[in-house]
Amino acid sequence: MASIQNHNIVSSHNMQTISNIADIRNIIKAERQKGKTIGLVPTMGNLHAGHISLVAQMQQHADIVITSIFVNPLQFSPNEDFDSYPKTLKADQEKLEAAGNHYIFAPSAAEIYPEGSASKTLVSVAALDGILCGKSRPTHLTGVATVVTKLFNIIAPDHAVFGLKDYQQLMVIKQMAIDLCMPINVIGAPIVRDEDGLALSSRNSYLTAEQKQIAPRLNQILNYVKQAILAGEENFRELEKQTMQIIEESGFKPDYFEIRTQNTLKTATIADHKLTIFVAASLGKTRLIDNVRFATDEKNN
Ligand code: AMP
Repeated sequence: MASIQNHNIVSSHNMQTISNIADIRNIIKAERQKGKTIGLVPTMGNLHAGHISLVAQMQQHADIVITSIFVNPLQFSPNEDFDSYPKTLKADQEKLEAAGNHYIFAPSAAEIYPEGSASKTLVSVAALDGILCGKSRPTHLTGVATVVTKLFNIIAPDHAVFGLKDYQQLMVIKQMAIDLCMPINVIGAPIVRDEDGLALSSRNSYLTAEQKQIAPRLNQILNYVKQAILAGEENFRELEKQTMQIIEESGFKPDYFEIRTQNTLKTATIADHKLTIFVAASLGKTRLIDNVRFATDEKNN
């Protein structure tokens, strides 16, 4: 037993890292037999304060928190950064242990895709694909939904948490859980940002010093457009068009800037009151995404 007098003991529970499916299932079975509830935090590793906030959030919901670390080949297209995606397992273990996470599930690609990543079964939330990130990354959301289905089937958690930073992804997972009768409470967690407003992302480590100066503009632009809408701007399509130009003039290569409804992700008009503004833009080879959510009938948010 750890001494409760020593405030520095953060690893008294000896967090374990598990790499195979049979082992994690046995561990979960034993925890379940003790009456514990299970929470899953899916990640691709290279953890930052945004990921750690998900662990903290999950501790409010579940007795046992399992963080998965898996760079999922299926959600990258051939021209993307799968091979160079930062892998920092040791640092991730230290951060998770300090955060009070209970288990890491860090499988190999062969464990998850024994027949290779040309998976014969794919999970696609068709109604939410083909827009936003689904348009420029056509296989991405199917790759995400497929691997999350596998993780849900392996861990069978009571709760799973996803960041609002990847808002479309969160909506895809929520819809998938409903449509496929997965008995899992899918939770959305607030976006964690740097002081300058830049949403934390593992990919921010790709940015040069010069690009780091430009990157926070993305969030400033989102907030500027939000304020314009709250101040009565009605022509959303014109606003989108002009803002795409501003993003380009700021030094980004814009992918999309779209004002959509918060719950259904439909193109929004002035008749809609719960809105999400989405942006994706690249700085050099680094693709950044961000969003802001608000209600037009709550002037104070
Ligand atoms: P990733 O490792 O990029 O796949 O992200 C794993 C989870 O962390 C996803 O649910 C993300 O939405 C979430 N996440 C990533 N960055 C942030 C952030 N800045 N704030 C909150 N959640 C985040």
